[in-house]
Amino acid sequence: MKPLAQELIARLEQLRKDNLYRQLRTVDSAQGPRIGMNGRELVNFSSNDYLGLANHEAVKEGALQAIRDFGAGTGASRLICGSQQIHHLLEERLAEFKGVEAALVFSTGYATALGTIPCLVGSGDVVIVDRLVHASLLDGARLSGAKLRVFDHNDLDDLESILRWAEKTVDSDGNVLVITESVFSMDGDQAPLHELVALKERFGAWLMVDEAHSVGLFGRRGSGLIEELGLVDRVEIQMGTLGKALGAAGGYIAGSRVMVDYLINRARSFIFSTAPNPASSGAASAALKLLETEGASRRQTVWMLAKTLHRILSPSVTTNPASLILPFHVGEEVQALALAKSLFENGLMVPAIRYPTVPKRQARLRITVTHGHTLEDLQTLESALRLFSGDPIH
Ligand SMILES: *Cc1c(COP(=O)(O)O)cnc(C)c1O
Repeated sequence: MKPLAQELIARLEQLRKDNLYRQLRTVDSAQGPRIGMNGRELVNFSSNDYLGLANHEAVKEGALQAIRDFGAGTGASRLICGSQQIHHLLEERLAEFKGVEAALVFSTGYATALGTIPCLVGSGDVVIVDRLVHASLLDGARLSGAKLRVFDHNDLDDLESILRWAEKTVDSDGNVLVITESVFSMDGDQAPLHELVALKERFGAWLMVDEAHSVGLFGRRGSGLIEELGLVDRVEIQMGTLGKALGAAGGYIAGSRVMVDYLINRARSFIFSTAPNPASSGAASAALKLLETEGASRRQTVWMLAKTLHRILSPSVTTNPASLILPFHVGEEVQALALAKSLFENGLMVPAIRYPTVPKRQARLRITVTHGHTLEDLQTLESALRLFSGDPIH
């Protein structure tokens, strides 16, 4: 046995060698299309604050009002004495927004997945996830103790063959849960939800869809891709985060009343955790209200920016971008780091995304467009990419 510090120094050294070492960088401003770092201003292409709500006056006022009314902390879990009116108001608004009976809020999206999946399936069941689902969904699936199978990304044939296998494997009281995302966090593409819904219905499986990157951006009311595709009544479990387009923090499940009642009784990350702070819930509630009036115009602006940047990055592709996430694929970790560094020196914040967030040797820059970017910002990015590669076009 080695002393802990010695062991960890060796492990960190290995990460550095593999170009996988990570470091925190202090941001000394609010979140936005421009952020401050070490006294410099950088154009920020890395945030998920898609609609520019994280620093919006009305959303901040929602947080402040919640603090005035309910304080800074909640003092206990929801089931002890922490279930404040502000949480119930947020859940009512979320349910209405998502067009479902009920919603339940957790402290983070990560805690939502970790609490929900093991609550719905366990040993004797099968859980099938898309190869590219977010770490929180994979961790929740592992924690559940259900048999875990992974289907190739967006591959309906592969999913079908696993569903066929699962049908034979589970006994009469076993269940099958399929998990995917409507917009994938690191690739920015969409799941074929119409086909997925039809497929899971044929097998009597349940479907959980994480809308982390589509809430606020799709659908007439902006509640997500499920709404846009008219599938609200056919997806049993809708998950999302309050920390991205909604500009606050927290996660949620939306669906039937009976599911929410069950989660309240059994989801461990809900039961054994202090209730979300009033500020986050107040901010999220204000963001939902704001979307009713400003959502459509904000969506229109960011989609216009995304289309422009998409044309710059992929001039040969004639389709519209599938989301506001426009990955710039590099491959080798060391090259992605060099490109990110070069962009940083040119005043642009676009971090390199590496393993384990994406597979090894599939490193990339994950460029996100947010409300508040200007056409000049997009041009600055274009020139900086051109400067680095001679030609940014892949
Ligand atoms: C960010 C993210 C989460 C986690 O949500 P947090 O609220 O940040 O914990 C879950 N799923 C996906 C797809 C995400 O991108």
